[in-house]
Order: sequence, then C-alpha cells, then structure tokens
Amino acid sequence: MRLRGFFRHENETKLGTLLIRFSLVFFAVFALLLSGGYLLQNHFIKTSYLQVRDLAFLTENLDLLEKALVEQENGRRGFILTGEESLLASYERGTADYERIIRILETNIPLTAGFSSDIKSVLADAKLLQSAYDRPLPNLAEVGSSLGRADMQDGEQFFFELNTKFDDLSELISVQRTFERGRLLRLITLTLALTAAVALLALALYIYFIVKNIKRLVHPLTELDRAISSYEGSQTGISSYTSTGELGRLVNAFHRMGQDMRRESEKLEETYKMIDALNRADSVQDVYRETLLHMRQLVQCDKISLIMQNPDKRFSFKAVLQNERLNLKETLLPNERHELRELVQSGTSLLYEDWHRKRPPGELADRLHEEGFRSSVHVLLKKEARIVGILTLLSLEPGFFTAIKKQRLEKLAPMIVTAIENARQTDRIQSLAMRDGLTGLWNRRHFENVLGRLEQESCADAGRPRPLCLIMLDVDRFKQFNDTRGHQEGDAVLKHISLLLQAYCRFGDLPFRFGGEEFAVLLPDTQLEEAAAVADRLCRLIEFDSPSPEYVVTASFGVAQLHSGQPSQELIRSADSALYRAKALGRNRVCTDTQDLNDSA
Ligand code: GH3
Ligand code: MG
Ligand code: MG
Repeated sequence: MRLRGFFRHENETKLGTLLIRFSLVFFAVFALLLSGGYLLQNHFIKTSYLQVRDLAFLTENLDLLEKALVEQENGRRGFILTGEESLLASYERGTADYERIIRILETNIPLTAGFSSDIKSVLADAKLLQSAYDRPLPNLAEVGSSLGRADMQDGEQFFFELNTKFDDLSELISVQRTFERGRLLRLITLTLALTAAVALLALALYIYFIVKNIKRLVHPLTELDRAISSYEGSQTGISSYTSTGELGRLVNAFHRMGQDMRRESEKLEETYKMIDALNRADSVQDVYRETLLHMRQLVQCDKISLIMQNPDKRFSFKAVLQNERLNLKETLLPNERHELRELVQSGTSLLYEDWHRKRPPGELADRLHEEGFRSSVHVLLKKEARIVGILTLLSLEPGFFTAIKKQRLEKLAPMIVTAIENARQTDRIQSLAMRDGLTGLWNRRHFENVLGRLEQESCADAGRPRPLCLIMLDVDRFKQFNDTRGHQEGDAVLKHISLLLQAYCRFGDLPFRFGGEEFAVLLPDTQLEEAAAVADRLCRLIEFDSPSPEYVVTASFGVAQLHSGQPSQELIRSADSALYRAKALGRNRVCTDTQDLNDSA
C-alpha cells in the first residue's frame, strides 16, 4: 500500500515528484541488476577461467615433467653408453627438475579433479621409472657393465610407454582446455547479451513510463492552453477537464471563472438594459414598472415590491411584481409604521438570508412567511440622507439572497431614486407644458392627447362603444369687450370662466382652454342629452355669475357626441358647427350637432 502510494498520487500536483521518484527507483533497480549481473558473470566466468588456467598449468607442468624425465633419461643413458661425465650435468638437472615438478604437481592435483587419477597414475609410473632405473650414477658407473642391454631396453620401453601416457594425458587435457575455453567464450558472450537485454528492457520500460507520464503532464497543459485560448478567442465552450490534479483544478477554475464572467456579463447587460429603460421612462409609473421588471430579470427572485413615500411622507406600495403579475396600483401599507420602523431606523439595507433563523418583524412578514417566502433583502432608496423608498426582494428559497447580492442591489438603488426623481421632474414639466398659462386649465395640446386616448378607449370595446361628448364654448363678442373694458379685464373674464368650468364640471369631465376665448369640455361616458344639460347649466352660470356687476358675460355652446367609427376630429368639427349655429341663432345659447336646445336665451 505504501509502495503504491509512493508511485500513485491522487493528486497530479505530485506528478513531477512522482517522475523523479520513479527515475530514482529505476536507476537503483538498474544498478542492482547491473551489479547482480556482474557478480553472476564474475562467478561463472571466473570459475570457467580458473579451470582453463588450471588446465594450462597442468599441461605446462606435465610437459616440463616429461621434459625433465627426457633430460634425465638422455643424460643417464648417454653417460652409461659413452661414460661422458659432462652428460651427468644434464642428468642432474633433469633429476632436480623432476623432483621440483613432481612436488608442484602433487600439491596441485586437486585443482583438476577430472584428471587427478590419470595424473596420479602418470606420476606413479614416473616414480616407478625413477625407482627402477634411477640408480645413483657413480654406482651406475661402477656397475655400468652390469647394466645390461636388456635392462636398457626395458627402461627405454618403460620410458616410451610413460611418454605415450604423458602424450595421451596431454591430449585429453588439451581437449578439455579447448572445451573450457570455448565455454568461457560462450559464457562471456551470453552474459554480455543478457546484461544488454535486461538493460535495454529496463530502459524501454523507463522510457514507456516517462513518456506515459509526460503525456499526463502534457494533457492538462494542453487543456489549460485550450482554456486560456477560449478566453482569448471569447469562445463559449471550454473543454471540461475532470482531473483532480493541480492543472486540472486550474482548468476547472478557469472554467468556473468563465461561467462567472459570463454570468457577470449577462448581469451587466441586464443592468445596462435597466439603466437604459429607466432613462427612457416617460413617467414615474414607467420607472416603477421598468425597475421591477428588470430587477426580476437581474435577480430571478419570486416577488419584488417597491414602496415609496407619498408627498405626505407616508409609505405606500407603488408596484408589486409576483407570479408574472405586475400591479402598479397604489395601496397603503397595513401597519406601515410598525412594519418599516426597524428597517428605516437601521438606516441601512437589510438582509434576511434565511427566515427560519430570522425574519423581518410584523404582520406583513408573517403573511409572506405563510405564503412560503424564506429569504429577503430590503434595499433602502435614499435621496441624500432621507429614505424615500424601499425595494423589497423575496424568494421562496432560503439562502437565496446573499451579502454580495445585497451589495449589488444597493449600488443600483441611487440609480432608481434618480430615475424616479427625473421622471417626477419630467411629469412636472410635462404637466406645465399641458397647462394654459393664464387660466391654469389643460391646453389645446393636452386636449388633443386626451381626446385621442378617449377615442381609443371608446373604440376599444367594439360591441359596446363608450359614449364621449364634447362641449365647445366661445365668449360672446369678446373683441368688443376687450375694446371697451380693456385686455386685463378680458383676462379676468377668461380666468373667471375657467374657475366656473373647474368648479361646476362633473367629476370625470375635463375642461380645457381651447384657444383665445374658446373653451372645451370633454365628457367621457356621457350621452349627448346629458352633455347638452351640462352645457346649458354652464351657459346659465356664466351669464349669471359675471366677475363684476358692471357687465354681463355670455357664451355660446356647441355640443356633439362621438359616433362609433367617427374620427375624433369629426367630433370637434361637429361641436364647432353647433357652436357656430348657436352664434348664428343670437348667441348665449347651446346648440347640439343635431338640434337647437336653447329656447331660453
Ligand atoms: P363672437 O361673439 O362672434 O365670438 O365675437 P368675438 O368678438 O368674441 O369674436 P372674435 O373672434 O372676433 O374675437 C375674439 C377676441 O377674443 C379677439 C381677442 O382680442 C380676444 N382674445 C383672445 N384671447 C384673449 C386673451 O387671452 N385675453 C383677452 N383679453 N382677450 C383675448
Ligand atoms: Mg372666438
Ligand atoms: Mg367670441
């Protein structure tokens, strides 16, 4: 297990170390193999070599022994035959050599076990020859005559036999030596070949392992390179790398970073879209709607509400988005003070990560908890230091909101406040642009807008079109009034009439200053008769409620109803022609586009 651990690592971080370790172990094993091979080789070759050497030694000494015997024999025989004393020196040398070599051979016989009996036999014969024929020479000389030819011939015969034995043995030894030499050579060749084969095999294994593991090293590097290239090339797909190694983790980290970056860039894109939508919002209502819709897109939560302060500094729901339903109707918060106290008092946005542990106080939160909400973040919308609203995001999932999400939402909060403020400002400016400077009534431009909208609403329900009427009124002989009473008084009359229109129009009727001394009243959901009655009442009011008792102001009225399928301009034209008829019939009266209702002028 330990050894496996030595070579196997869960973690590829150690791949480099692993390669080093493996190399060290390989070289240790390689060295062991080589030294084992060397010892083995040493043992066999040395044995074989020693045997060859001993055989050579034996051959050499047997040759020398033979030579010594020949020398001895020659000396002896020569002296006997010739009596030449100088030949005795050869005899003596031969005898000395014989004795020396006999000693050497006798002590070294165990060296050559295979030939010891043969050698012993040859040595025994040599001794026999010595003992039988080697008599001391002086005696020999003395008894020279007694040494007969027969003895000589016997000795010669014995010597030749011994010599033949010597030759046979030398031959045998020589054969054995040749064999041993051949064996030694084969052994050397074999051991060299074996060592080379083992070394090559080990090297091949080593190279295989190294290459395989270098591939393991290179593979994650390639993956890493691909991962990096994918960022450079902004590719979407990064090859998935599942290794647990250091490089694998790096690749996976790149992968995760890529996903995070894509998520971030999506969020950024959503944020830009939201900024753009808020910038383009025409009204405060638009801002509320765009804020919630984009927030939902950005955060993917289950419910969002926007609570804003009213002019009376009380908080009320302005917009709620839940289950794909956006509600823009303004509803006051139940127990609002209590509900928002903690939040507003803290002065900072609050995060309730898990409602199991802690949730916002109050009945509203209790109700939301019953509905299943489990996580919330409450972002304060501040204008300078003042809290002007609260953006609440809720999720059914505990832990859905985190501190990071809260921080991001907080960063968006000032933008929402600014957008609301801008929209309010725009509303104010637009409102001013829609008002008449003298009377404060809606002006002609706004009249056109409202008429267009009412016309659309009227046509929306094709089966049952909603009635819409228009009253046009024109102050009678106003030029003359201006001329006699002056323009200022004329203006006062116009203001007075506008006040009368605002005060006495029914709820839902919309008075406008149409232009000059002409006024218009739009009456949604009103039939022509009712509109004519309203006009008649206004006609009386103007006549009997002049700004000054010094003069009487009158006006003429034209009333018309929008018939289904008629363009709105037709309504103006009809009312205008009715007004024209009222003028023609003597002024201070009401005419409809169908009949003259005035009989009391
Ligand atoms: P008619 O009964 O036929 O309507 O006679 P008129 O004099 O009222 O009609 P006309 O169109 O000839 O004159 C309209 C006058 O209204 C002309 C203009 O001086 C006056 N007028 C228009 N706008 C204003 C205004 O803002 N202030 C004042 N003081 N007078 C205005
Ligand atoms: Mg006029
Ligand atoms: Mg007039």
